[in-house]
Amino acid sequence: MTQEIPHRDFVRNLVADDVASGRFGRQICTRFPPEPNGFPHIGHAKSICLNFGIASEFGGKVNLRFDDTNPSTEDVRYVEAIKRDIQWLGFQWDNEFYASDYFEQLYEFAIRLIAKGKAYVDSETEDEIRLHRGTVTQAGTPSRYRDRSPAENLDLLARMKAGEFPDGAHVLRAKIDLAHPNMIMRDPLLIRIRHAHHYRRGEAWCIYPLYDYAHGLSDAIEGITHSLCTLEFKDNKDIYDWLIREVGFERPPEQTEFARLVLDYTVVSKRKLLRLVTEGRVSGWDDPRLHTLSGIRRRGVTPEAIREFCETVGVARKEARTELAAYEHAVRNDLNMRVPRVLCVTNPLKVVITNYPEATTEEFDAPYYPHDVPKTGSRTVPFSHELYVERDDFMENPPKKFFRLSPGREVRLRYGYFITCQEAVKNAAGEVIELHCTYDPATRGGNAPDGRKVQGTIHWVSARHALDCELRLYDRLFTIPDPEAGPDGQDFLSVLNPESLVVVQGAKIEPSAGNDAPGTRYQFERTGYFISDEIDSKPGALVFNRTVTLRDSWEKEKAKA
Ligand code: ATP
Ligand code: MG
Repeated sequence: MTQEIPHRDFVRNLVADDVASGRFGRQICTRFPPEPNGFPHIGHAKSICLNFGIASEFGGKVNLRFDDTNPSTEDVRYVEAIKRDIQWLGFQWDNEFYASDYFEQLYEFAIRLIAKGKAYVDSETEDEIRLHRGTVTQAGTPSRYRDRSPAENLDLLARMKAGEFPDGAHVLRAKIDLAHPNMIMRDPLLIRIRHAHHYRRGEAWCIYPLYDYAHGLSDAIEGITHSLCTLEFKDNKDIYDWLIREVGFERPPEQTEFARLVLDYTVVSKRKLLRLVTEGRVSGWDDPRLHTLSGIRRRGVTPEAIREFCETVGVARKEARTELAAYEHAVRNDLNMRVPRVLCVTNPLKVVITNYPEATTEEFDAPYYPHDVPKTGSRTVPFSHELYVERDDFMENPPKKFFRLSPGREVRLRYGYFITCQEAVKNAAGEVIELHCTYDPATRGGNAPDGRKVQGTIHWVSARHALDCELRLYDRLFTIPDPEAGPDGQDFLSVLNPESLVVVQGAKIEPSAGNDAPGTRYQFERTGYFISDEIDSKPGALVFNRTVTLRDSWEKEKAKA
């Protein structure tokens, strides 16, 4: 008996069986079929990873097909964004196709269906058609145009195409069954009149195929074997199969549905994303708070992290939400092993080292990576008479477990000396504006020769050498896990998180970061992962986007509240 090798999800099992049995008599072929009406998001990444992954694992091909059959919402700008994002994820399609290139073929198929008595031109209004479709419990009633002769139907279709009629005057419908238990099969609409400009076909067409008509037949035209789509298309499978069969394709593709990716605290519906963008709730499709792939990229997440995340989420038949913590875990895991660590003080408090000469500077060797990261590299970090430390790392009257700076308390400066806080200098309002500290020259390198221990190590920068920078601290865009459902029937925009972006001016970063190209990623020690903003960061005016904090602080915050 041979041992079955299990594949990692049900779709791969299915493909493996089909490959083994030679079911299609041709190389397997998948496709990713986006409509170019918005930027791709994390949900699309799941579909991309699945379709491109399967094609390469099973020695097949993958088509990128733009499902561009709706003239009013599509744009070449979205085509470009989709292509760029797929390549950014690390995939390359074998063919680039457009459903709008199949308009001629789809028209020929319509003629074939009419000739077979399988389609007719209906001249009822959209409202009448909807009304006559019946309900789940009640059969529909035939349109009074249902029994038009093929000759009359052919004539009307030709005249629809020639532009003789206004929008809505006629539609082409499949002639199936008005009592079918699947409502979609009750004579679905196939082609409608739309006098509109199409971004690729211009004014060449004034009739456009509907989704169900274009989608399955495009798959068939391309010789797709496995048509993978999300669960909401389950009911469309009947019409998918019907059309391909009636048009006469042999060895038809098979549609298989899997659960879409739905991530907490964000939205992945293009319609909602578009509203956020057009209503100015975010800065654009690439706003780092969005889980569009361009937003994710600008925020500093790597394509490897996204692929790994999609891998962990897996492919299942059942809908499930994915916690943001799982996403952030994948992001941290990936960055942890690849990015250099530097020092950056978010909210600076000046520290004067009173026993260190004012004119002197010394430099500490500082490795970019800890021992457990298999990467090397280092820089030097300057130290001088005046430093900045994090305001939060000082407390005048600390609780017991506070191991950072407070009057009389000694801490270690990362890569540097031990310092002891001697005095907190205050302004007239009683606010601490400066700390006076002393350093112990014997502790260079971070250890005391007498063996005494300090419990806290804090980050810092030399005041004279540090560079000013802007930090953009990003957080989740919504305050509830499922904003798509809408909070108690309210609009999803009512649960936007007002603190999803906090801009910090005047943060202080060590000088080594000053000359790196925009788009460089770092871990700011003890703070989080950051990337210099590709668009806004310039030498002398550095801007860093926070990719993710070092730990999940949100859960703690929620517990506190
Ligand atoms: P949206 O709801 O965001 O408008 P869509 O399904 O209308 O998404 P398409 O451009 O039609 O967007 O999607 C292209 C492909 O990506 C389809 O095969 C679709 O099933 C898949 N897809 C879309 N959203 C998700 C998701 N959240 N998870 C997995 N796959 C998805
Ligand atoms: Mg869709």
